[in-house]
Amino acid sequence: MPIAWCNMIFFLLMLLAACGGKNEALPSPNADNILSLARVTLDSIQSTSFEENREYCGFIGVAPNGEISVTVPKPGQTNHCNFGIMPRNWQHVSAYHTHGRHTSSYNSEKPSAADLQGHHEFGITGFLATPGGRLWYIDGPNLSAELICGPSCLTQDETYRPVHSIDTSYTIHTLLDG
Ligand SMILES: [Zn+2]
Repeated sequence: MPIAWCNMIFFLLMLLAACGGKNEALPSPNADNILSLARVTLDSIQSTSFEENREYCGFIGVAPNGEISVTVPKPGQTNHCNFGIMPRNWQHVSAYHTHGRHTSSYNSEKPSAADLQGHHEFGITGFLATPGGRLWYIDGPNLSAELICGPSCLTQDETYRPVHSIDTSYTIHTLLDG
């Protein structure tokens, strides 16, 4: 075989190897990566959520280009946020939302029953940031929630006062009963 052809085949093999290598270099869509991005995203919108005293929400997951991505945070109401339509063609889709400013009139330091039910309807998991700076994992499919980290692990509202007792996990039943 002429050397020129050998070179051409070698070049094509290198090109294929390079393309394969590029895919391997992309972040793997695992739970740790999604948690890290959820945490950074939530922390970055806490202050705005407190100032405007309303929730912010969005989705997080792996976009078609393989990148772990978040949708632009959507402003909601004082105690509600409309997530809108889940991104098409994303994988491992999860959601995130904040709870706005601290209030003593109800316990916003834990996910609400409506939070669990909403995620359950989407069939996805989610992450919640509270005024006290708690970070929660919401398991929509199993209608349960688990505390990832306690007060001040995210930016905390300066008006926050610990007025309610908070468990480290809840189910839809313990939330509805409580
Ligand atoms: Zn909520």
